[in-house]
Amino acid sequence: MKANTPAARSGRHFLQIPGPTNVPDRVLQAIAMPTIDHRGPEFAELAKEVVAGMKRVFQTQARVVIYPSSGTGAWEAALSNTLAPGDRVLMFETGHFASLWRAMAGRLGLEIEFVPGDWRHGVDPARVEEKLAADPGHRLKAVCVVHNETSTGVVSRIPEIRAAIDRARHPALLMVDTISSLASIDYRHDEWGVDVSVGGSPKGLMLPPGLGFNAISNKAWAANEHARLPRSYWDWRAMGETAQTGVFPYTPATNLLFGLRESLHMLLDEEGLDAVFRRHARHGEATRRAVAGWGLDVLCADPREHSNSLTAVLMPDGHDADRLRGIILEAFDMSLGTGLGRLKGKVFRIGHLGWFNDLMLAGTLAGVEMGLQRAGVPHRAGGVTAALAYLAES
Ligand SMILES: *Cc1c(COP(=O)(O)O)cnc(C)c1O
Repeated sequence: MKANTPAARSGRHFLQIPGPTNVPDRVLQAIAMPTIDHRGPEFAELAKEVVAGMKRVFQTQARVVIYPSSGTGAWEAALSNTLAPGDRVLMFETGHFASLWRAMAGRLGLEIEFVPGDWRHGVDPARVEEKLAADPGHRLKAVCVVHNETSTGVVSRIPEIRAAIDRARHPALLMVDTISSLASIDYRHDEWGVDVSVGGSPKGLMLPPGLGFNAISNKAWAANEHARLPRSYWDWRAMGETAQTGVFPYTPATNLLFGLRESLHMLLDEEGLDAVFRRHARHGEATRRAVAGWGLDVLCADPREHSNSLTAVLMPDGHDADRLRGIILEAFDMSLGTGLGRLKGKVFRIGHLGWFNDLMLAGTLAGVEMGLQRAGVPHRAGGVTAALAYLAES
């Protein structure tokens, strides 16, 4: 084997993409337990426990369902369980993931009002109010928002969006993709009046890919009765009793649920959600100080909307982000996030979410700074120093 192939490297690979994230050893060990009978009593206890834990993560008393799926599956579940063919939905072009969700809605037969965006801002609550106020016949059935746009590192302000919907006195359902904010950035399904929250396993929950989640308000649950989009695998009714009975309608991802039990224990019982959010806020701030120290810009244009789970960094004109990423992977065995969609080559993304600590961040930022130097990207030295000073004092 060539000495510089990743398998021959010494020490751990740095997986600093904004998902999938680093999986704690304890979670990997939990997943390695023997698979059990998913119709037996031991499994029923596991299922009830993880559903109850996920309610705490979503900060909800409402129903939570868990699919053996990617996050994309949980998007489809949210739409197909609540809407009918030809229903209108209001969506916002905040970035690549919002654009993908819109494309899915179109394929499912929904009519989409897509508000264009510049991929540097979140959803403008004033635009939400304006669009809903212009719909007195209530043809719009849902407002769909990506909370943390993983392609841009921009967070939309869900409480302000809720308030805008309320000011317009509009009955549309509010659906929020919280895949890359859940268990990293404060998220409150009940308090913020969200009807369907969409989650996934491989980001803040520190698990491998393979679990999708919906948290479902009573209003969304009621909408399910009249929702005529075809669905079978995703149907909430079959899933909805799991919290009480511990029974899934088909084979669940048993071993990932072992992992989820362990990660929930770490997040909820050991560290505590508030401390988890503070840790991510600290790492977000330290990363932004490093970027400023390098004399580079973050993509997010509004300081109120900075993401604490990832930072997208703009490359200076004429320099390709993917070339820099390649050099960093080759020299330092670290993966950074690529620019998605129209941001290809223009940004790289530093993931600082999930199972992560100060020294992992220090190593990550050091890898970026050395990579900028190796790749000949114009920058100032001292980004790492600025981040370390912040971490040392805060
Ligand atoms: C990762 C991600 C998705 C897609 O999830 P998959 O598991 O790849 O299907 C959707 N939305 C956001 C915001 C994400 O970060």
